[in-house]
Amino acid sequence: MFAETLGQKKAVGLLSRSLENGRLAHAYLFSGPRGVGKKTTARQFAAVLLCRHEGMNGPCGTCSSCVQFASGNNPDFVHIKPQGAMIKIDQVRALKKALSYPPLEAPRRVIMLEDVHTMRREAGNSLLKLLEEPPPDNILLLTADDSEPLLPTIVSRCQIIPFYPLPVELAAQIIARRNSSLTAEEALRFAQLAGGCPGLAGTFDIEGLLPAYEQTISRLLNPGKSESARVESALELALQAAELKEGLEQLFDLLRLFFKESMLAGLRAPDQGSEPRPMDDNILRARERWNLQQLSDKVQVIDFVAKTLARNCNRQMACEVLFLKLFSIH
Ligand SMILES: [Zn+2]
Repeated sequence: MFAETLGQKKAVGLLSRSLENGRLAHAYLFSGPRGVGKKTTARQFAAVLLCRHEGMNGPCGTCSSCVQFASGNNPDFVHIKPQGAMIKIDQVRALKKALSYPPLEAPRRVIMLEDVHTMRREAGNSLLKLLEEPPPDNILLLTADDSEPLLPTIVSRCQIIPFYPLPVELAAQIIARRNSSLTAEEALRFAQLAGGCPGLAGTFDIEGLLPAYEQTISRLLNPGKSESARVESALELALQAAELKEGLEQLFDLLRLFFKESMLAGLRAPDQGSEPRPMDDNILRARERWNLQQLSDKVQVIDFVAKTLARNCNRQMACEVLFLKLFSIH
């Protein structure tokens, strides 16, 4: 059971116990960082819940329900993903309507709602009503990245299934398995850059991305003494970033992750369900160079510019704003 979910003992334990003692919640919230297996696990859980031979060894894989599930045609599995950037209120309304009918073939229906952190307040409130008065024989599986806050009222109505970053070595194994062209050393480096979230590493081999990232971090850590040197560095890096054909978004992700990791370094409580990770030298240097407020300001600058880029602003200009601001926090 949950063989595809690696290194998430707490999540797997909670789900297994739910099945073992037959006390299923009407809603589960798979919560944690991006790229650590939340959706994979939720799908596996859905398959178990829908299998006609529900047992402790996972879905049987052969009953009609399992066959339909594997081919993406199970009539009692409803799968909702963000349309564009978010789950919209119309999707939640349509879901409510669908749930007013009983399940079609199985004794219960399973609804997977991906990325509920993308919902605006209006859609969130609509979902909340559904959670407050859940129609019988329906189980909701919500997944959410913990980067964005959810309505606390939604959280309180779900059983939380927490996910954590993986130890770097395990993340490296997963990355290496998915991308056989990487050397062991590269896989380890990717795992480190992804902060132990293997799902983030899939795009790291975009041409020019990692050199641009490494150079950015190195220049930010050694910005030069004079104002004019910093401005010059900022403009050079902006030009380099804007010239990335793809991967600008990933560059932003990597930089954001770097500053967040630097904030967490030293703050992380020992028992968070994950092993302590060996720390990147640059992160140690970042912690020496910038205080928490400065690191947090840098993350905010990145978030702000990432949002303006998503609205199709001029890439070069957005990059210049980003780097000038990053260099001004020193
Ligand atoms: Zn089955």
